[in-house]
Amino acid sequence: MDSAEFRRRGKEMVDYVADYLDNVEQRPVYPDVEPGYLRSLIPAEAPLEPEKYDDIMTDVERVIMPGVTHWHSPYFYAYFPAASSYPAMLADMLCTAIGCIGFSWAASPACTELETVMLDWLGKMLNLPEDFIAGTEGQGGGVIQSTASEATLVSMLAARCKAVRRIQASNPEKSEADILSKLVAYTSEQAHCSVERASLIAGVMMKKVPADNNYGVEGAVLKRMLEQDKADGLIPFYFCATLGTTASCAFDHTTELGPICNEEQMWMHIDAAYAGSAFICPEFRPLLNGIEFADSFNFNPHKWLLINFDCSAMWVKKRESIIGAFKMEPLYLKHENQESGVITDYRHWQIPLSRRFRSLKMWFVFRMYGLQGLQDHIRKQVALAKEFESLVRADNRFEICAKVVMGLVCFRLKGSNGLSELLLKRINKSREIHLVPCQLSARFVLRFAICAGSTESRHIQQAWKHITKLTSEMLEYRH
Ligand code: PLP
Repeated sequence: MDSAEFRRRGKEMVDYVADYLDNVEQRPVYPDVEPGYLRSLIPAEAPLEPEKYDDIMTDVERVIMPGVTHWHSPYFYAYFPAASSYPAMLADMLCTAIGCIGFSWAASPACTELETVMLDWLGKMLNLPEDFIAGTEGQGGGVIQSTASEATLVSMLAARCKAVRRIQASNPEKSEADILSKLVAYTSEQAHCSVERASLIAGVMMKKVPADNNYGVEGAVLKRMLEQDKADGLIPFYFCATLGTTASCAFDHTTELGPICNEEQMWMHIDAAYAGSAFICPEFRPLLNGIEFADSFNFNPHKWLLINFDCSAMWVKKRESIIGAFKMEPLYLKHENQESGVITDYRHWQIPLSRRFRSLKMWFVFRMYGLQGLQDHIRKQVALAKEFESLVRADNRFEICAKVVMGLVCFRLKGSNGLSELLLKRINKSREIHLVPCQLSARFVLRFAICAGSTESRHIQQAWKHITKLTSEMLEYRH
């Protein structure tokens, strides 16, 4: 493909994408295929001779689309949103065209520098404490990780390294292996499974802290666990708080937990993967209080801030604590401007070496929406969740299972878990809307998350009509 053909095909692709998104609600939101469906639709081997572009595009509809779950359908209410917007898509295209691998300042200065400034912009939108802002002289700053899971892992590894060094400084006789075997990381029983996974990778013990009736962790509960563990000779070193849990969008009590972590010299990481985007709205910002006690904070603009995957924003108060844990300096990666005082080498902040120019997506989106446009997006989706909540509350066959704070509604049919399980099966089998479940206090619960940017009130009303129709049919059949 030469540039002349690329121009033509590019325009066609933009039309295809715009048509796809304009009409996505007409496609069944959930695919009707069985595992292994795709293999039989394409050859067993790659072609020897070049094929025609038109044939490939024909196969997109024949092979790919039948197996796509349409996350951007306004009838998709599963998991959490996957952010998307046209400015982000265009910026991503430019990122791909520039195609730099910006692991260091020298590898592409704009890639590193725009990232630092975008994370400062976003940090200021969230009103983060000054310590997290890099500016020109700050000790902290932000980085784009691929996922919240990676941000948690990176923070845990940095915390592990810091704890080992601190303990060895006052107890030089202690071996690293001895210390590692006693380190304990803590998180809520409601935390995302990626936190436990990080402890498996980091090779440290993990303990789950019981949550309160609203599914948040209280300071006193953590404190009691720490006292017991210290008395048993263990070394608490890390706590991952969650703001906006995956199951029910619950919030740990970070204003209580933070001072405890600070007193115990434990690293506090805050995982706000979904909810973090909402903190750009002053009415939600109080939920981030306690951030001043944290060592690191992360959320996913690629969930709820109109920036397509991947773009997971992470900030640290002291970047040395991350860099110090991961620094590798082979000659082939060295460059003249390494020690210039500003952030020059994001390669020390992450697990892979290579990195894309992802901050372009932030730059385009922040400029094209402005803070107000982003706030409008969040507020509109929260209002839709509230609308759905009132529909559920008005039907006494159902109950709401957790406080609706943001864009997620947890609900179930009153009665046995089996009833709600059966209802969910019917809902997903119908392929008209798509939901996933969670478990709360041993109850089987349906999660209704406002996801697609194109979701409007009429979709919510339609979704509820569909759910109640299936419910009535199911209950009638059982009688
Ligand atoms: N943490 C929380 C609270 C989440 O809800 C999720 C995913 O929904 C994750 C972490 C994992 O996010 P990622 O896929 O970016 O690793």
